[in-house]
Amino acid sequence: MPRHIVCLTFDFDTQSGFIARGMTTPTPLSRGEFGLVGARRILTLLKAHGLRATWFIPGFTIESHPGACADVVEHGHEVAHHSWAHVPPAQQSRSDEEADLIRANDCIERLTGRKARGYRSPSWDLSASTIELLLAHGFLYDSSLMGGDYWPYRVRRDDRVELGKPFLFGEETSLIEMPISWSLDDYPHFEFVRTATSVLPGLQSAQTVMASWMDEFRYMQANVDWGVLTYTMHPYVIGRGYRMLAFERLIKDLQAAGAMFMTMEEAVAEAREKMF
Ligand SMILES: [Zn+2]
Repeated sequence: MPRHIVCLTFDFDTQSGFIARGMTTPTPLSRGEFGLVGARRILTLLKAHGLRATWFIPGFTIESHPGACADVVEHGHEVAHHSWAHVPPAQQSRSDEEADLIRANDCIERLTGRKARGYRSPSWDLSASTIELLLAHGFLYDSSLMGGDYWPYRVRRDDRVELGKPFLFGEETSLIEMPISWSLDDYPHFEFVRTATSVLPGLQSAQTVMASWMDEFRYMQANVDWGVLTYTMHPYVIGRGYRMLAFERLIKDLQAAGAMFMTMEEAVAEAREKMF
């Protein structure tokens, strides 16, 4: 019996990503603050469709907006790890990265009663230490890598990479990767970001983006008997009205096509049974 799983995931960054990039004037901060509005809309939408999702919540958001984070838990969603300060681990020393990891996990334990099972790196860039730290701190899965699409895989450590030499695969670990892609992330499609050195144009048609996301599901359904498709969204991005309408249509289309919605933790448990 084929099973095609969809994980809806929300990175509840609020202002943390802007602060981590030094964008601390009132307007960028307010842009992150809009995530509180978006999160309420998303929780209402998911409840209306009887869906549970995974929320990657930085410790910053848990400490700054405790009521909004308690709502996520009360609605029955999984809370997973997304750092404390939303600083990419590749920019941190090992000890700074570990301190941030522990601090954020303590926030999650206070919020939910359990430590996180899953981790997603802010900006999706792992450091050379991240895999070791996740294993040492009892994580079951990561969702920051792009080496697959529909099939979870075991995260490797110590891949050997040297300019001018062939790539050598390292050893597989017990950590399960739930792969992601920028193409299945709302941020680059929708956000207009101007800095001194670059412009991210964003602002694409929500209907066009959601149609592509639906096609990704249809391709999975046509080509594998069992698979997991992970969509990544940010409440301050997807929470805009016209995007919410398109997102709700996507949910209805996925339901009509037979998608099985579950949290990442549940999908990882099923992957362990099926694949490993
Ligand atoms: Zn984030």
